[in-house]
Amino acid sequence: MRLFWSIVITIFILWVWELYELQQDFKKDRLNPIQKYEYHLKHLTKVQIRRLKIMPYSEYLKTEHWQFLRSAALYRDKYKCLDCASRSSLQVHHRTYARRGCERLSDVMTLCEDCHKAKHEKRQNIFDKFI
Ligand SMILES: [Zn+2]
Ligand SMILES: [Zn+2]
Repeated sequence: MRLFWSIVITIFILWVWELYELQQDFKKDRLNPIQKYEYHLKHLTKVQIRRLKIMPYSEYLKTEHWQFLRSAALYRDKYKCLDCASRSSLQVHHRTYARRGCERLSDVMTLCEDCHKAKHEKRQNIFDKFI
């Protein structure tokens, strides 16, 4: 029984230590943008996610959440448009809005302004066919 409790306590201490280390890394800016986004995501509450989901999109684009997600996507895509490999006027596009507020990194992609526009026009055309 004593062994059991020492194991439980050790695991708990390691867990707290790890959280503390991660927090220190975050504060001291030792994380890459993807790790930062994951850290940010872990600390979002359900209420915050819900707020991000329903706020107007223009307001959403001004949030810290979007800044974290955007930086992570640009970093993952090596600051290049995924369609044409351009490095200028990059934007981050939502493949899906289904998880807005707690997006997976695979929900967004880096595109240049032109490819981004083209992508939305295409989406609009598909939509037009249905109405
Ligand atoms: Zn492009
Ligand atoms: Zn878009």
